[in-house]
Amino acid sequence: MEGVDLLVRGAGELLTLDHGRPGPVTGEAMRDLRIVPGGAVAVRDGRIRAVGPTAELEARFEARETVDAAGRVVMPGFVDPHTHLVFPATRQGEFEMRCLGKSYEEIARAGGGIRNSARRMREARREDLLDRARRLRRSALRHGTTTLEAKSGYGLATEPEILSLEVIAALDDRGDVVPTFLGAHEVPDEYRDDREGYVRLVVEEMIPAVAARGLARFCDVFCEEGVFSVEQSRRILRAGREAGLAPKLHADELHPLGGAELAAELGAASADHLVRISDAGIAALAATGVPAVLLPGTSFFLGMKDFAPGRRLIDEGVVVALATDLNPGSSMTENMQFILTAACLAYGMTPAEAITAATLNAARAVRLDDEVGSLVPGKRADLLVLDVDDHRLLAYHHGVNHVARVIHHGEIVE
Ligand SMILES: [Zn+2]
Repeated sequence: MEGVDLLVRGAGELLTLDHGRPGPVTGEAMRDLRIVPGGAVAVRDGRIRAVGPTAELEARFEARETVDAAGRVVMPGFVDPHTHLVFPATRQGEFEMRCLGKSYEEIARAGGGIRNSARRMREARREDLLDRARRLRRSALRHGTTTLEAKSGYGLATEPEILSLEVIAALDDRGDVVPTFLGAHEVPDEYRDDREGYVRLVVEEMIPAVAARGLARFCDVFCEEGVFSVEQSRRILRAGREAGLAPKLHADELHPLGGAELAAELGAASADHLVRISDAGIAALAATGVPAVLLPGTSFFLGMKDFAPGRRLIDEGVVVALATDLNPGSSMTENMQFILTAACLAYGMTPAEAITAATLNAARAVRLDDEVGSLVPGKRADLLVLDVDDHRLLAYHHGVNHVARVIHHGEIVE
């Protein structure tokens, strides 16, 4: 018998998402979770060694340690491909104002919002930023997120942007926290009358500084009316790409500017938000395979009536992924389980489609689909044992944490 470190056995439903080929899935395949009833997973050296029926794996492998799933669901860890994990302070005062009827845009115009965070960021201490980010990362893990993307973007000046990315780097030594440079998140106060000057600062100073330090994998822009135009976004993202940072976009969230089309043109890693995506934008994403990262928690948290056209994006063959958008202004949650429920209700996605969007397709949106997002031999052994025996309960029975065990890099961490 071959020795392995860990055997997870006796899953009622083992959701492998193994479609027999690498890469994300689209259309009807998103409903097929490739379930092995009575399944098991063998783990060695932090990687998946084998996946199959429990009896078969127990006959092949002798495990140092065993986890008995006892008829419950076992699935890949969630991948959260869009978070603003590093920020200087929570903004519950603005939340209270919104509860009393002020809009997010009104609060932003009055100096709240991202610019509020940016002002506080300039006085923030590294230890405090790291402490908050660590606690949120730990909480995300307890809720089943084994891999997450994390953006800078509250610094809005070279030094605090670098500091944010250094905090992200300090959280991670195994490739579980994917860093994105988002210097173009907003225009800071001192550049309100010289937006072009800020774009030049991002292109000529920040991107080279970030790239030289190897601190980011992606470069992101908030492409939106009153923030960065399509033309400015294109310049920033091209400069990032030339420096080795793959493009990502906050696209078509409040107005249909053409952000999705720009993402397709640049071959971006993802186009995110897309509440106001145009018909041409949908066609462009479907044709290029650029993933759409949908953030239903944000529309919900902002009290918006409109949500991204999630159902239509799936039906038209776009690679659809889901994320929390964790941030102190518009989506203060690190819980992907809540996002599944929101996606089912707001978009008309099925629970299975939402699970695919939050694992395999989400991995594609951070270009880690060869590494995480499904239970396939050779991939990282990141898996969850849930306290439910039917995967549909995960989205349906909402507002509670269904994660019973978290196995991360082959180790039982929760
Ligand atoms: Zn965002």
